Amino acid sequence: MSDTPFDLVVIGSGPGGYVAAIRAAQLGFKTAIVEKDATLGGTCLNVGCIPSKALLQSSELVEEAQKSFDRHGISVGEVKVDLAKMLKRKDTIVRQLTGGVAALMKKNGIEVAQGHGRIGSASSVVVGTAGGPERTLATKRILLASGSVPVALPGVELDGDRVGTSTEALTYPEVPKELVVIGAGVIGLELGSVWRRLGARVTVLEYMDRILPGIDAEMAAAAQRIFERQGIKFLLGARVTGAKAQGDKAVVTWQDKAGETKSLEVDRVLVSTGRKAYTEGLGVAEAGVALDKRGRVIVGKHYETNVPGIYAIGDLIIGEGIPGLMLAHKASEEGVVAVEQMAGIKAHLNYDAIPGIVYTSPEIASVGKTEEELKAAGIAYKRGKFDFAPLGRAKAIQHTDGFVKILADAKTDRILGAHVIGHHAGDLIAELGLAVEFGGSSEDIARSTHAHPTLAEAIKEAALAVDGRALHGI
Ligand SMILES: Cc1cc2nc3c(=O)[nH]c(=O)nc-3n(C[C@H](O)[C@H](O)[C@H](O)COP(=O)(O)OP(=O)(O)OC[C@H]3O[C@@H](n4cnc5c(N)ncnc54)[C@H](O)[C@@H]3O)c2cc1C
Repeated sequence: MSDTPFDLVVIGSGPGGYVAAIRAAQLGFKTAIVEKDATLGGTCLNVGCIPSKALLQSSELVEEAQKSFDRHGISVGEVKVDLAKMLKRKDTIVRQLTGGVAALMKKNGIEVAQGHGRIGSASSVVVGTAGGPERTLATKRILLASGSVPVALPGVELDGDRVGTSTEALTYPEVPKELVVIGAGVIGLELGSVWRRLGARVTVLEYMDRILPGIDAEMAAAAQRIFERQGIKFLLGARVTGAKAQGDKAVVTWQDKAGETKSLEVDRVLVSTGRKAYTEGLGVAEAGVALDKRGRVIVGKHYETNVPGIYAIGDLIIGEGIPGLMLAHKASEEGVVAVEQMAGIKAHLNYDAIPGIVYTSPEIASVGKTEEELKAAGIAYKRGKFDFAPLGRAKAIQHTDGFVKILADAKTDRILGAHVIGHHAGDLIAELGLAVEFGGSSEDIARSTHAHPTLAEAIKEAALAVDGRALHGI
């Protein structure tokens, strides 16, 4: 047991936990962070956001070289892919970033305890190391940030090779000829896009009758049309009943909309049917921390659980007014707000202003409410929509697919939701996120000068379109 107790012990070093630890140290807290894995950074840095974006970038370049260079009058001969080198580049980026988190811990004087963390009591965390003795950290507060893991599907036998999750899909040693993706959510579509661009024939099986559940339906329908044009095959209303490895192949079976049993033999199966809160060995039950039916830690508005002194953030949590979004930046913001509130600062997080991005090509980005949500809540709204196609910049860079849609309150004009599908939508959404955060109106955006020629002009035009006065609409 250390002499003076820590002010805060964080369990889990993902974007929630490590950012919370930095903010705590900045505020003068004596802080420790416990991580069971060999490297810091959690799902996001090790097997999530970062490696997936590295592969998305590499594979997008392959497709650009194959399909777009010629139109620019550029000839580079046959495009060859060295997959091992591509994967190594991804691993190098991951190593640099996880090493960067370790350096940040050191710089901020945060003690890193490597091992499995478990709640000992509301004022102690027990850290177990493989084969070694347990260590107890005395602390005034505990912050749980143990994140999430992929959900298993009944009948699907994950063998960590032919039938795997996103983690395996970041390291396939060769491009599968045939890849089945189970689940048309963000992760499945991003990684499905990677392997399609590298040459795989990709079939996506989705239980629902649409792709990208939770995203504005008009955007999802537009995205599906574009992905189909790119060569991804979608089988909607497909209830997967089984998948298993068979030699160097995998067989997946499902029931189609008509109830007929179908099956397919493919090279690999990527199961991406969502993620669940991870509390294994964390000692939540023993400590009496309340969980919801789906195993998520329930928190109040200060991110405190029902056990005083034990807090939780990130993929792990749910609460009143706190949606169970699984996003890295949401986890980080919660970490900052939770710690600042512990220090007596009046911090607040606006969940309506958290952008969500799908890093496919084109990207899909949203902030605030969807049209479906506004309709369900009976809120009267006006909508303004503008395509990228007429924009000079979109034509110059040959990225004309997609549009911007702004939803504004019918009476006050306040922006309630904004959605972008198009090149660099993930960067463009920042302006709209800020507008939502500041309680801005479509008129505010329409009156702001947007540089020409930029893709951001579509945002200004969509804001003008809310009031029927887009200038370049055709
Ligand atoms: C393929 C993929 C792509 C993604 N892409 C994006 C994206 O582009 N943008 C985005 O916003 N989100 C993305 N996400 C989601 C994002 O990774 C998560 O929302 C985010 O990592 C959650 O952060 P967290 O801190 O809550 O938990 P995590 O990042 O999951 O970190 C939890 C950490 O806690 C550790 N841990 C757990 N239990 C214990 C214990 N008992 N003792 C010690 N350590 C423990 C784990 O080892 C892990 O390191 C992606 C996810 C995946 C899988």
